[in-house]
Amino acid sequence: MYGTVVRTEHLTPHLVRVVLGGDGLADFRDPEFADSYVNAFFLPPDAGYQPPFEDEATRDLPRDQRPYPRRYTIRSWDGERREMTIDFVVHGEVGYAGRWALHARPGDRLQLRGPAGDYSPPTDADGVLLVGDESALPAIAACVEHLGQGTPAQAVIEVEDAAGEVELSSPGDLDVRFVHRADAADEEALTRLLADAVRALPRLDGVVSAFVHGEAESIRAVGHALRDEARASREHVSISPYWRRGLTDEQWRAVKGDWVRGLQAELA
Ligand SMILES: Cc1cc2nc3c(=O)[nH]c(=O)nc-3n(C[C@H](O)[C@H](O)[C@H](O)COP(=O)(O)OP(=O)(O)OC[C@H]3O[C@@H](n4cnc5c(N)ncnc54)[C@H](O)[C@@H]3O)c2cc1C
Repeated sequence: MYGTVVRTEHLTPHLVRVVLGGDGLADFRDPEFADSYVNAFFLPPDAGYQPPFEDEATRDLPRDQRPYPRRYTIRSWDGERREMTIDFVVHGEVGYAGRWALHARPGDRLQLRGPAGDYSPPTDADGVLLVGDESALPAIAACVEHLGQGTPAQAVIEVEDAAGEVELSSPGDLDVRFVHRADAADEEALTRLLADAVRALPRLDGVVSAFVHGEAESIRAVGHALRDEARASREHVSISPYWRRGLTDEQWRAVKGDWVRGLQAELA
């Protein structure tokens, strides 16, 4: 399965929207969850082939010709027009995926597999709390669109600065707060930005469902804040480290399993 770039748009200086379409998406099935994602495969320069390709056939190629897999949230899927929207964080000329999105042009192709996913805001929750950086913003934006009419909800989103803020629309009763990395004095303050903002929120009543996804150390700090303040009980918290500052996705995936087990033990 592959998508062909239909159009792109800079939503903010660090977020590029890419809309994929075309016959390569003919077999794509409706995503089941608000946070559904695809595995996308980014080719190294001079790979010598382009989508569609057989995954199996690339496995025996030398490392510098194999695709780099990355996960990306399906911001939206329009089954009638057969269009998939993905919002990519771009962080300069860094990363196979970020660079691809930065330079994507209509007609470019992206090999995909999926969808998979885990979380939609539960209809029986009394309140919903969504926390993350720009990498989780597509999932948070999709989640708030899925809220029941008037459901109390809070979203805390980390962006670089005021230019990184986007508007979210929701049928819920949504309180959105942005925090700015530019305001963090040092690495430690950066890691605490989201957690400190969560601690400063008014409390939601009743059973609260929390969605906490994004940079690993930041979401760990948020997990601790939720536990320390009993803002959501463990079984109602979806927590997932999408990426790790300073590590490529390959480096991160090599240690992610142990890291996640450690976090689960800390929060148990
Ligand atoms: C289920 C899931 C869904 C995701 N959905 C999205 C999504 O919708 N949009 C999105 O942008 N990302 C999303 N991500 C995160 C994305 O897969 C990673 O950020 C990925 O590492 C980016 O790949 P890259 O090739 O651009 O950079 P890499 O080659 O992996 O890394 C290069 C450098 O960039 C840094 N880096 C990686 N990601 C970021 C970032 N977000 N901000 C700043 N620096 C970074 C790395 O630490 C490293 O130093 C998702 C991850 C998961 C697991």
